[in-house]
Amino acid sequence: MSDYSVGTKCLHSGYVPTNGEPRQVPIIQSTTFKYDSSDYMGALFDLEATGYFYTRLQNPTNDNVAAKICDLEGGYAAMLTSSGQAANFFAVFNMCETGGHVLASSSIYGGTYNLFGTTLKKMGIDCTFVDQNLSYEELCKFIQPNTKCVFAESVTNPTVNVLDIEKFAKLAHDNGIPLIIDNTFATPINCQPIKWGADIVTHSTTKYMDGHGVHVGGAIIDSGNFDWMASADKFPGLTTPDESYHGITYAEKFGKAAFITKATVQLMRDLGSIQSPQNAFYLQMGLESLHVRMERHCANAQKVAEYLISDERVAWVNYPGLESDPYHAMAVKYMPKGTCGVMCFGIKGTREQANKFMDSLKLVSIATHVADAKSCILHPASHTHRQLSDEQLREAGVAPDLMRLSIGLEDADDLINDIKQALDQI
Ligand SMILES: *Cc1c(COP(=O)(O)O)cnc(C)c1O
Repeated sequence: MSDYSVGTKCLHSGYVPTNGEPRQVPIIQSTTFKYDSSDYMGALFDLEATGYFYTRLQNPTNDNVAAKICDLEGGYAAMLTSSGQAANFFAVFNMCETGGHVLASSSIYGGTYNLFGTTLKKMGIDCTFVDQNLSYEELCKFIQPNTKCVFAESVTNPTVNVLDIEKFAKLAHDNGIPLIIDNTFATPINCQPIKWGADIVTHSTTKYMDGHGVHVGGAIIDSGNFDWMASADKFPGLTTPDESYHGITYAEKFGKAAFITKATVQLMRDLGSIQSPQNAFYLQMGLESLHVRMERHCANAQKVAEYLISDERVAWVNYPGLESDPYHAMAVKYMPKGTCGVMCFGIKGTREQANKFMDSLKLVSIATHVADAKSCILHPASHTHRQLSDEQLREAGVAPDLMRLSIGLEDADDLINDIKQALDQI
């Protein structure tokens, strides 16, 4: 499929039916798969034969959908996970063990911030959060001998900062470690981080990829480009024998597929965070229109952002599509088709007035969700980022008055009128 443009891939990559097969990806709602011989089944468990045996590890529906996402991102291998949280956890834990260290942007999604800053710490993995706008030289100072990866979001949730992906790729590669990019907000329609040097890409498929708010899911895509053996001492999990598979060494036996194979047969086997085939089917339905929806999300968001910045009751607006935005140039470089439909802004006035504004919206709903067909709004300091301290909020660039507005697929004029009438209420 790789010669087609990204929109065509949204429809046709991943699953290609042969004569008489279902046109749409079939939902294989089966926990298990039948084999004729005990020996063959044994070979499957030894990873000596290929085939499905238990859906906790792999399922054909999931694999079809993962293959589509893989092709969209220009990756080598991919897998689905039960959530975006699971995708980021698996991506990091697949290369990083107790005693390791992760260098992450401080502007990442609140859930990932908690995962890295609190839960990974309990597992003996340390994380340093850094300002992603520091210079290459300044960032290098945060790399430690035990640093296993660099992690950032191509467009940050909720602050919509655009990452200098090339700078981060250089930071990682000069230190013999991979770069993981969470590409949830930009989607592969607007940005393909692997082209800019990312080694692993993750997604919360819950967001634009699904696009209709019907499933929670995640994905991990491996470029296949990182040479684990070249930094073998840093990544023993991939470069030394796995006793739970009679001494298989993933990087030797599976080459470019080592990372996804290990995450599937070892981490999924042991931690079990597979996406359900039914959810993978919903995801597949969303992916078929992703390219059409992203265009509309971006066009709508551009109109709303331009309106907001022109209304004197609005204190500030962050949207990389605005020429005045500090990330505009970065967005033009990495995401020439647009960034996403999410923006953030603050209004002049008190916290109570902001609440009154949100409560007065009729079309835009107050919801924890983001990147959905229907517009929604949220106040991160009271909602998604509630568990973060004031200090952590400042570090993440989340201002106390910041409202995250996710622009859907409605008519832009109706959204603008809704915002106007809500501003009139305060
Ligand atoms: C939502 C989100 C996640 C977490 O995904 P879930 O599917 O909710 O677990 C991770 N990263 C980003 C950028 C997100 O927006």
